[in-house]
Amino acid sequence: MTVELISIGTELLLGNIINTNANYLSRKCAQLGFSMYHQVTVGDNEARLSEAISAGLERSDILILTGGLGPTTDDITKETLAKVLGRKIIMDEHSKERIEFYLNRINDRKKISKITDNNWKQALKIEDSMVIDNAYGTAPGYIVEDRDKIILLLPGPPFEMIPMFENNMLPYLKRFQDKVLVSKMIKICGIGESAAETMVIDLIEKQKNPTIAPYAKGGEVHFRITAEAENEEEALELISPLINEMKIRFKDNIYTTNEEETLEEVVLNLLASYKLTLVTAESCTGGLLSGRIVNVPGASDTFMEGFITYSNEAKMKYLGVNSETLDKFGAVSEETAKEMAMGAVRASGCDVGLAVTGIAGPGGGTETKPVGLVYISCCVAGKSFVQERHFKGSREKIREHSLIAALDLLRRSILELYG
Ligand code: ATP
Repeated sequence: MTVELISIGTELLLGNIINTNANYLSRKCAQLGFSMYHQVTVGDNEARLSEAISAGLERSDILILTGGLGPTTDDITKETLAKVLGRKIIMDEHSKERIEFYLNRINDRKKISKITDNNWKQALKIEDSMVIDNAYGTAPGYIVEDRDKIILLLPGPPFEMIPMFENNMLPYLKRFQDKVLVSKMIKICGIGESAAETMVIDLIEKQKNPTIAPYAKGGEVHFRITAEAENEEEALELISPLINEMKIRFKDNIYTTNEEETLEEVVLNLLASYKLTLVTAESCTGGLLSGRIVNVPGASDTFMEGFITYSNEAKMKYLGVNSETLDKFGAVSEETAKEMAMGAVRASGCDVGLAVTGIAGPGGGTETKPVGLVYISCCVAGKSFVQERHFKGSREKIREHSLIAALDLLRRSILELYG
């Protein structure tokens, strides 16, 4: 089946809003195994919308239209589609009752007495179409079957569109599925994108089904493995040997194969499983590392405190870094990173200290210590692990990569010490 998406709204063309509906619906259609060859965005203009619908009906089996179902005069989706199909627009009593009930409830709360006439526009339907109730708004959705074509109409606001698609349109569309697409994700840390790709280039080159797609993502590399099959079970059977092969090749560089799981979650779960508490000591990341850790719900069970010690004085005052260390090796050095992590453990009484110090740029670099040079140290059970890293790119990118590298060093240190 081929499917085409038509996103309606002048605000989309002006760049006032991001077309997140297209992003969501494309993913859903891919999972259904439908081929999407065209996506069109049109403004609230009848002639151009009509042209887009006619072109879509010529070349695709299913059209999905979002937006323009509201009560105002620039909401023209339903009316335009009816004209293209040569069908009448009629009143749907069921929608009228629902809209009346919904608006009376809101008006009562807001002490507004009258429902305005344009609201009834949303109770009109294209004749012989299926009306889909909107659980979170007044504009219903519609399924229109026209000869061998199917047209789905969905409201624009994502919080109305997504539940309607999930609960109503998806079950309807499943009957046209002749194959499914299933994806699994392998997430890797500690190897750059090109090195990671080289390690599996033979698998990528002979890929057919499943396919392997690498993505670089803020200091990590993700491989999406996607299989096409008659059903989910068969697709998983195709994916499984490839995942095993990649596990053999990437070993402990893989931190998860669960798409939803983040590196910080993996690290916190690991610490929690050994009942270890964590303290951070940050210089160039200036709180980014702690911020990322605190993103994880329940982080407070493990993460106790964080020091942001940007100046040399702060490093000495709060972490007890020796002035001789700073004089002799500098603030960006293996020795300072090590003393920062140890000092944070001493000051907090935590089990694990994680420290980052580096030159984020754009200024401040020298020949021996260039921009992007970062030292990371992890102190666990009296043992120090230290890494020297060289990152390229903007200040923002260097700081982001530093915090990912720090989380990864922590993960590897715990695995090495505790298995
Ligand atoms: P309403 O009943 O709210 O008028 P509608 O179906 O007429 O709904 P639009 O008027 O086209 O939808 O859009 C309403 C709002 O929904 C937009 O201002 C925007 O915030 C959001 N929206 C619309 N289309 C999209 C889209 N493709 N991606 C993300 N958000 C969207």
